[in-house]
Amino acid sequence: MADPLTGGCFCGALAYTAERGACRTVAHCHCTMCRKLTGGSFATWVEVPAGGFVFTRGEPRLLCSSGFAERRFCGDCGCHIAFQYVGEREEIADVVWIAAGSLDNPGELVPTDVIFARETLPWMPDDAALPHWPGQMPWLRPGIDEAPEAS
Ligand SMILES: [Zn+2]
Ligand SMILES: [Zn+2]
Repeated sequence: MADPLTGGCFCGALAYTAERGACRTVAHCHCTMCRKLTGGSFATWVEVPAGGFVFTRGEPRLLCSSGFAERRFCGDCGCHIAFQYVGEREEIADVVWIAAGSLDNPGELVPTDVIFARETLPWMPDDAALPHWPGQMPWLRPGIDEAPEAS
């Protein structure tokens, strides 16, 4: 894999590599679930092909955070590394979303979207230059976020 993305958890027990070329989306997620799971005021997720994502050190713990999402995190330091949609829809289950903060070089990313914007904390500065989706992005929405904002 040429020039992969690399990263790992806080304590170093987990490390991973991911394919960089096919990243379509780098999304700031303001959903309550991401907030609670990471302890941050929002989470930034980097979309990578599932086939190119591999743990090179350690075994992550698995959390089924809902009926359609699995999250992988470090059982030692608690750092959340990735989530993946599971189920029938291959077009969304064949990608993994990496927590940007776990990357070795997150500063090189270019954010593309704001999702679950309706749940943004009132004191968060707004990145007005990016498209804002009230819930999940439309191409991921069926079965995941059934309540798009009325326009
Ligand atoms: Zn760790
Ligand atoms: Zn979220």
